[in-house]
Amino acid sequence: MQDHTQSEAAPTYRRVMLKISGEALMGDQGYGLHPPTVERIAKEIQSVHAMGVELCLVIGGGNIFRGLQGSAQGMERTTADYMGMLATVMNALAMQGALESLGLHTRVISAIPMDQVCEPYIRRRAVRHLEKKRVVIFAAGTGNPYFTTDTAAALRANEMACGAILMGKNGVDGVYDKDPAKHDDAVRFDAITYDDVLSKNLKVMDASAIALARENKLPIVVFSLDAPGGFRSILAGEGVSTRVGG
Ligand code: UDP
Repeated sequence: MQDHTQSEAAPTYRRVMLKISGEALMGDQGYGLHPPTVERIAKEIQSVHAMGVELCLVIGGGNIFRGLQGSAQGMERTTADYMGMLATVMNALAMQGALESLGLHTRVISAIPMDQVCEPYIRRRAVRHLEKKRVVIFAAGTGNPYFTTDTAAALRANEMACGAILMGKNGVDGVYDKDPAKHDDAVRFDAITYDDVLSKNLKVMDASAIALARENKLPIVVFSLDAPGGFRSILAGEGVSTRVGG
């Protein structure tokens, strides 16, 4: 049974892309998957789903493997990147399991076909899943080395006609003029332009993802995933965040 008790608030977006890093799933372990943390985030997603929002999800792989790290240690870059993409599939499957145990219907869709594990990416089919209120988890990034899952999130958000990309962060509740962990006087922006993010080199998403969002006027909302109910409050038009737009 799905929880519809919180469905009164009218959501600010009908369909969104939630991007979280792989590290969001590792808890305090410093590596890998921490099932209670995956379950906590799954519950956040469930509460937004209960508002009637159509949900796309991209999860990074940095808790398991990052291509750049592998290549810095002597691996061939493209091989290391494919390993990073496979790491995102593991994270996607973990999240799928957690969401389904809460009673949600989901699909994992991979940019690299692996039919025994999940569906291949077919745009029209993915749209149909969203219309049927299934949570669609896009795995394996863009399917190409030299990209990141930030770019995958921007790409799929455009293809799925999402109203916004929601960047769920750990330890920070928006975009600041300097690192708030290091500077007490750091100031959070309520809103900022794509161009400012790029010219000031602010850490929101990587540059190719920002450029892709800017080209299609897709807003990016940066918020904290730490506080319970944080994701839902953003969709309810409340809560602290930074909106990156035109
Ligand atoms: N990756 C890639 N192409 C993509 C997406 C990801 O090659 O389209 C690889 C890349 O090596 C990256 C790794 O997968 O380092 C994990 O993704 P990412 O670093 O974006 O994860 P996050 O930092 O969000 O956890």
